[in-house]
Amino acid sequence: MAVNFQRVEFVLSAVSASGFLRDGLPQLAFAGRSNVGKSSVINRLVGRKNFARVGAAPGKTSQINYFRIDGRGYLVDLPGYGYAKVSKAERERWGVLMEDYFASGLITCGALIVDARHKPTADDQTMAAWFRDTGCPVAVVANKMDKLKKSEIAPNLQQIRDTLSLTESDMLLPFSAEKGTGLEELRRCLGAYIP
Ligand code: GDP
Repeated sequence: MAVNFQRVEFVLSAVSASGFLRDGLPQLAFAGRSNVGKSSVINRLVGRKNFARVGAAPGKTSQINYFRIDGRGYLVDLPGYGYAKVSKAERERWGVLMEDYFASGLITCGALIVDARHKPTADDQTMAAWFRDTGCPVAVVANKMDKLKKSEIAPNLQQIRDTLSLTESDMLLPFSAEKGTGLEELRRCLGAYIP
Protein backbone atom coordinates (compact mmCIF):
# COMPACT_ATOMS: atom_id res chain seq x y z
CA MET A 1 0.00 0.00 0.00
CA ALA A 2 1.24 3.51 -0.79
CA VAL A 3 2.94 5.28 2.10
CA ASN A 4 0.91 8.12 3.59
CA PHE A 5 3.59 10.77 4.15
CA GLN A 6 1.01 13.05 5.73
CA ARG A 7 0.61 10.65 8.62
CA VAL A 8 3.65 11.95 10.41
CA GLU A 9 4.71 12.50 14.00
CA PHE A 10 7.85 13.83 15.63
CA VAL A 11 9.53 11.08 17.67
CA LEU A 12 12.74 12.41 19.18
CA SER A 13 16.01 14.25 18.65
CA ALA A 14 19.29 12.38 19.05
CA VAL A 15 22.45 14.23 20.04
CA SER A 16 24.68 11.15 20.10
CA ALA A 17 24.79 7.54 18.92
CA SER A 18 23.13 6.30 22.09
CA GLY A 19 19.98 8.15 20.99
CA PHE A 20 19.74 6.56 17.54
CA LEU A 21 16.57 4.57 16.91
CA ARG A 22 17.30 0.92 16.24
CA ASP A 23 13.88 -0.68 15.99
CA GLY A 24 14.38 -2.09 12.51
CA LEU A 25 12.01 0.29 10.70
CA PRO A 26 13.47 1.81 7.51
CA GLN A 27 15.25 5.17 7.89
CA LEU A 28 15.17 7.76 5.12
CA ALA A 29 18.01 10.16 5.86
CA PHE A 30 17.75 13.78 4.67
CA ALA A 31 20.93 15.82 4.34
CA GLY A 32 21.68 19.24 2.92
CA ARG A 33 23.60 22.45 3.24
CA SER A 34 22.05 25.05 5.50
CA ASN A 35 19.52 27.19 3.66
CA VAL A 36 19.20 24.77 0.75
CA GLY A 37 15.56 24.30 1.75
CA LYS A 38 15.82 20.94 3.52
CA SER A 39 13.15 21.88 6.06
CA SER A 40 10.93 23.22 3.28
CA VAL A 41 11.33 19.99 1.29
CA ILE A 42 10.41 17.93 4.37
CA ASN A 43 7.41 20.14 5.10
CA ARG A 44 6.24 19.79 1.49
CA LEU A 45 6.75 16.01 1.62
CA VAL A 46 4.62 15.62 4.75
CA GLY A 47 2.12 18.25 3.66
CA ARG A 48 2.61 20.55 6.66
CA LYS A 49 3.57 24.19 6.81
CA ASN A 50 5.81 24.27 9.84
CA PHE A 51 6.70 20.73 10.68
CA ALA A 52 10.46 20.76 10.25
CA ARG A 53 11.51 24.22 11.29
CA VAL A 54 12.31 26.50 8.40
CA GLY A 55 15.29 28.75 8.92
CA ALA A 56 16.48 26.85 12.02
CA ALA A 57 19.20 28.85 13.71
CA PRO A 58 22.79 27.71 13.92
CA GLY A 59 23.57 26.48 17.41
CA LYS A 60 20.84 23.88 17.03
CA THR A 61 22.83 22.22 14.32
CA SER A 62 24.05 19.11 16.08
CA GLN A 63 20.98 16.97 16.44
CA ILE A 64 19.23 14.36 14.38
CA ASN A 65 15.45 14.62 14.32
CA TYR A 66 13.31 11.54 13.78
CA PHE A 67 9.80 11.69 12.35
CA ARG A 68 7.68 8.54 12.08
CA ILE A 69 5.96 8.20 8.73
CA ASP A 70 2.69 6.27 8.48
CA GLY A 71 3.82 4.13 11.42
CA ARG A 72 6.10 2.31 8.97
CA GLY A 73 9.42 4.12 8.76
CA TYR A 74 11.37 7.19 9.76
CA LEU A 75 12.22 10.38 8.04
CA VAL A 76 15.55 11.27 9.59
CA ASP A 77 16.41 14.96 9.43
CA LEU A 78 20.20 15.20 9.64
CA PRO A 79 21.80 18.43 10.85
CA GLY A 80 22.60 20.84 8.02
CA TYR A 81 26.14 21.75 7.08
CA GLY A 82 27.97 24.79 5.80
CA TYR A 83 26.74 27.31 8.36
CA ALA A 84 29.09 30.27 8.21
CA LYS A 85 28.96 31.07 11.90
CA VAL A 86 29.40 27.94 13.99
CA SER A 87 32.06 27.42 16.62
CA LYS A 88 34.79 24.85 16.27
CA ALA A 89 33.23 22.85 19.10
CA GLU A 90 29.86 22.82 17.33
CA ARG A 91 31.47 21.75 14.07
CA GLU A 92 33.20 18.89 15.89
CA ARG A 93 29.96 17.77 17.52
CA TRP A 94 28.36 17.79 14.08
CA GLY A 95 31.21 15.70 12.67
CA VAL A 96 31.09 13.05 15.39
CA LEU A 97 27.31 12.75 15.23
CA MET A 98 27.28 12.43 11.43
CA GLU A 99 30.17 9.97 11.38
CA ASP A 100 28.43 7.82 13.97
CA TYR A 101 25.15 7.89 12.09
CA PHE A 102 26.69 7.10 8.71
CA ALA A 103 28.70 4.27 10.27
CA SER A 104 25.66 2.87 12.10
CA GLY A 105 24.31 0.85 9.20
CA LEU A 106 20.89 2.32 9.95
CA ILE A 107 20.37 4.27 6.72
CA THR A 108 17.92 2.63 4.33
CA CYS A 109 17.91 5.37 1.73
CA GLY A 110 19.39 8.87 1.47
CA ALA A 111 17.89 12.09 0.23
CA LEU A 112 20.54 14.68 -0.52
CA ILE A 113 19.05 18.13 -1.06
CA VAL A 114 21.05 20.43 -3.33
CA ASP A 115 20.36 23.86 -4.80
CA ALA A 116 19.29 23.54 -8.44
CA ARG A 117 20.77 26.97 -9.22
CA HIS A 118 24.34 26.21 -8.30
CA LYS A 119 27.12 23.74 -8.79
CA PRO A 120 27.11 21.42 -5.75
CA THR A 121 29.63 22.56 -3.13
CA ALA A 122 32.62 20.60 -1.84
CA ASP A 123 30.50 19.77 1.23
CA ASP A 124 27.71 18.46 -1.02
CA GLN A 125 30.27 16.25 -2.76
CA THR A 126 31.52 14.94 0.57
CA MET A 127 27.99 14.15 1.67
CA ALA A 128 27.27 12.31 -1.62
CA ALA A 129 30.42 10.27 -1.02
CA TRP A 130 29.37 9.44 2.55
CA PHE A 131 26.03 8.16 1.31
CA ARG A 132 27.74 6.21 -1.47
CA ASP A 133 30.09 4.61 1.07
CA THR A 134 27.15 3.23 3.03
CA GLY A 135 25.99 1.44 -0.12
CA CYS A 136 22.43 2.71 0.32
CA PRO A 137 20.47 4.18 -2.59
CA VAL A 138 20.44 7.98 -2.74
CA ALA A 139 17.97 10.36 -4.29
CA VAL A 140 19.49 13.73 -5.06
CA VAL A 141 16.80 16.38 -4.80
CA ALA A 142 17.51 19.50 -6.88
CA ASN A 143 15.48 22.04 -4.92
CA LYS A 144 14.50 25.62 -5.89
CA MET A 145 13.79 24.64 -9.51
CA ASP A 146 11.28 27.51 -9.58
CA LYS A 147 14.25 29.88 -9.61
CA LEU A 148 15.60 28.52 -12.91
CA LYS A 149 14.96 29.84 -16.39
CA LYS A 150 13.80 27.16 -18.83
CA SER A 151 17.13 27.30 -20.62
CA GLU A 152 19.01 26.59 -17.38
CA ILE A 153 17.17 23.41 -16.43
CA ALA A 154 18.99 20.81 -18.53
CA PRO A 155 22.53 22.23 -18.09
CA ASN A 156 22.10 22.72 -14.35
CA LEU A 157 20.83 19.19 -13.83
CA GLN A 158 23.74 17.86 -15.88
CA GLN A 159 26.16 19.92 -13.79
CA ILE A 160 24.74 18.36 -10.63
CA ARG A 161 25.09 14.87 -12.13
CA ASP A 162 28.67 15.54 -13.18
CA THR A 163 29.80 17.24 -9.96
CA LEU A 164 28.35 14.55 -7.71
CA SER A 165 29.52 11.78 -10.10
CA LEU A 166 26.00 10.36 -10.34
CA THR A 167 25.57 7.30 -12.51
CA GLU A 168 22.66 6.66 -14.85
CA SER A 169 20.96 4.64 -12.15
CA ASP A 170 21.28 7.35 -9.49
CA MET A 171 18.09 9.31 -8.97
CA LEU A 172 18.10 13.08 -9.55
CA LEU A 173 14.74 14.65 -8.84
CA PRO A 174 13.94 18.21 -9.93
CA PHE A 175 11.99 19.78 -7.06
CA SER A 176 10.50 22.99 -5.79
CA ALA A 177 9.43 23.08 -2.15
CA GLU A 178 7.91 26.46 -2.92
CA LYS A 179 5.69 25.29 -5.79
CA GLY A 180 5.34 21.60 -5.02
CA THR A 181 7.06 20.51 -8.24
CA GLY A 182 8.34 16.93 -8.05
CA LEU A 183 6.35 16.05 -4.94
CA GLU A 184 4.71 12.91 -6.31
CA GLU A 185 8.00 11.68 -7.77
CA LEU A 186 9.79 12.17 -4.44
CA ARG A 187 7.03 10.42 -2.50
CA ARG A 188 7.05 7.52 -4.95
CA CYS A 189 10.82 7.27 -4.89
CA LEU A 190 11.14 7.29 -1.08
CA GLY A 191 7.99 5.27 -0.51
CA ALA A 192 9.58 2.40 -2.42
CA TYR A 193 11.95 1.87 0.51
CA ILE A 194 9.18 1.56 3.08
CA PRO A 195 7.56 -1.88 3.01
P1 GDP B 1 17.17 24.66 5.46
O1 GDP B 1 18.12 25.53 6.22
O2 GDP B 1 17.89 23.81 4.48
O3 GDP B 1 16.22 23.88 6.32
O4 GDP B 1 16.31 25.64 4.54
P2 GDP B 1 14.86 26.27 4.75
O5 GDP B 1 13.81 25.24 4.49
O6 GDP B 1 14.85 26.97 6.06
O7 GDP B 1 14.80 27.29 3.53
C1 GDP B 1 15.74 28.31 3.35
C2 GDP B 1 15.14 29.43 2.50
O8 GDP B 1 14.93 28.97 1.17
C3 GDP B 1 13.79 29.89 3.02
O9 GDP B 1 13.72 31.30 2.84
C4 GDP B 1 12.81 29.19 2.10
O10 GDP B 1 11.59 29.88 1.96
C5 GDP B 1 13.57 29.15 0.80
N1 GDP B 1 13.18 28.00 -0.06
C6 GDP B 1 13.13 26.70 0.30
N2 GDP B 1 12.74 25.93 -0.74
C7 GDP B 1 12.53 26.76 -1.78
C8 GDP B 1 12.11 26.57 -3.15
O11 GDP B 1 11.85 25.46 -3.64
N3 GDP B 1 12.04 27.68 -3.94
C9 GDP B 1 12.34 28.92 -3.46
N4 GDP B 1 12.24 29.94 -4.32
N5 GDP B 1 12.72 29.14 -2.19
C10 GDP B 1 12.82 28.08 -1.36
